[in-house]
Amino acid sequence: MTTQAKEAKTGMYYLPPLPYGLKDLEPFISESQLTLHYQKHHQAYVNAANAILEKLSKIRKENADLDAKAVAKELAFNVGGIQLHNLFWQNLAPKGSGGGGQPADVLSDAIKDDFGSFERFKKEFSQVATSCEGSGWAVMAYCTQSNRLMLLQIEKHNVNFPPGCLSAIMVLDVWEHAYYLDYKNERAKFIEAFWNIVNWNVVKQRFENL
Ligand code: FE
Repeated sequence: MTTQAKEAKTGMYYLPPLPYGLKDLEPFISESQLTLHYQKHHQAYVNAANAILEKLSKIRKENADLDAKAVAKELAFNVGGIQLHNLFWQNLAPKGSGGGGQPADVLSDAIKDDFGSFERFKKEFSQVATSCEGSGWAVMAYCTQSNRLMLLQIEKHNVNFPPGCLSAIMVLDVWEHAYYLDYKNERAKFIEAFWNIVNWNVVKQRFENL
């Protein structure tokens, strides 16, 4: 049974394997930075979400009282963290092995239609990422109701992203834990480095599969 099938069976979250080695995003993301981010931070959201599910199961079995507000908030935060990191690792690739360059075909056309040019899109996305207050994410999403690409900021892992018609097709983690070992307080340098390791094929596939 694959890891994914096992997890589906148990109904618990898990840390999916990275689609590249821990050193492979260097020099844009160092091995130590990626190891810490993936094995410690991402894993912590997985552990926390599973702990909440186990706690809920126990409380329900015992028919005990539940602090519903606190649990709902904690669950949204941790599940958001898991899903965003899953999207993030997948939309990165080593430079020259799928990372960097520009989007092609339908995604390239859609970016030009909605932003005017790739350069304009890149500038706006970088501004969205740079200006994220505190911990959060820059997101390119597609709205299936208005048929437009949109740039959004997610605060923490779950705030300011309406569900429903919007699908995140490219995400960038701008929490300090994503870049501090490599770039210290210089978030803009990390964002500039990100463009060298964007996996445009994955972003395009997400766009095509909407
Ligand atoms: Fe992160």
